[in-house]
Amino acid sequence: MTNPSLLILPGDGIGPEVMAEVRKIIDWYGAKRGMVFDVSEDLVGGCAYDAHGTPLTDETMAKAQEVDAVLLGAVGGPKYDKLDFSVKPERGLLRLRKEMDLYANLRPAQCFDALADFSSLKADVVGGLDIMIIRELTSGVYFGEPRGIIKEGNERVGINTQRYTESEIARVARSAFELARKRNNKVCSMEKANVMESGVLWRDVVQEIHDAEYPDVELSHMYADAGAMQLTRWPKQFDVIVTDNLFGDLLSDLAAMLTGSLGMLPSASLGAPMANGRPKALYEPVHGSAPDIAGQGKANPIACILSFAMALRYSFDQGAEADRLEQAVEAVLADGLRTADLIGEEGREPVSTAEMGDAIVAK
Ligand code: ATP
Ligand code: MG
Repeated sequence: MTNPSLLILPGDGIGPEVMAEVRKIIDWYGAKRGMVFDVSEDLVGGCAYDAHGTPLTDETMAKAQEVDAVLLGAVGGPKYDKLDFSVKPERGLLRLRKEMDLYANLRPAQCFDALADFSSLKADVVGGLDIMIIRELTSGVYFGEPRGIIKEGNERVGINTQRYTESEIARVARSAFELARKRNNKVCSMEKANVMESGVLWRDVVQEIHDAEYPDVELSHMYADAGAMQLTRWPKQFDVIVTDNLFGDLLSDLAAMLTGSLGMLPSASLGAPMANGRPKALYEPVHGSAPDIAGQGKANPIACILSFAMALRYSFDQGAEADRLEQAVEAVLADGLRTADLIGEEGREPVSTAEMGDAIVAK
């Protein structure tokens, strides 16, 4: 049997700092569990531009297509702000998403008990929360044609087009139902079928896929505006939420912030199943390169570590190990360890990126 393969792209800013902590965990798996990954490391973003004049080389792109999973840190920084659009660091990430055709963006909103303030009203709402938002990532109003700013009479008109094909809806619906079967067998689909044709089609197709292929999963539909309200009022009524690109952009940010700091939030972007039956996949923290704290050893590595936990679960079939890694994170937080972005006990000094990583490995 060949080892599972992982391409690591640390990127810019705090990317390499948080990735160094993930490397400690990967090494631990090799040494202590005999679970060896074929790890290769490469450049993406500003550092790739500095070395090769492009934010992602064809060689790196080809490697990303071959491996079982890609783990990315973050890209960009003020140094690259003036670059031409075609070589901006972010274009490296966009090329990966596009060429790997990663159409399902998974954003968990999970509340770690140690970070919930149980004296507040909010604790009741978010305590124990564990939901997953799936956002369609490759179509919808961000990509639909026609688009542009045109002249109509003597004024300008800005145009975007919301467009979804049946097959685009069907494939992301399948991702949601598959995930639901691994969780609590419950999906809520959100759109605005009351005012949008694409919403009518979305609702129809999700229901059809459900009835034909996943009748065992509990499915409900909700208008996205009502969904935003319900997510804020009582998020624990949901388990898996599936929605389009635009609504998913908003709802996943909203859900994420119910639970904690940017430094805590992982994500996965999944595509079509590969020969081994598992989806093409790119894992990355939700946060960016955080130039304001880069190089200071202050960054919270947990978002990147939890992104690796998602890789264990969805790309490497190691759900139990993913649970254990998340429990180690929870335990370290319960011990009171906090990086500077997290509110901790008064009078207790925040720990560094490396100290947080070491503590998680020790647990
Ligand atoms: P991007 O455009 O790449 O998404 P951004 O400008 O939205 O980036 P981030 O780079 O994510 O933002 O940073 C936003 C703020 O959150 C910054 O003040 C940053 O220091 C802080 N931050 C982000 N990630 C972390 C982290 N892992 N640990 C600590 N602080 C973080
Ligand atoms: Mg941002």
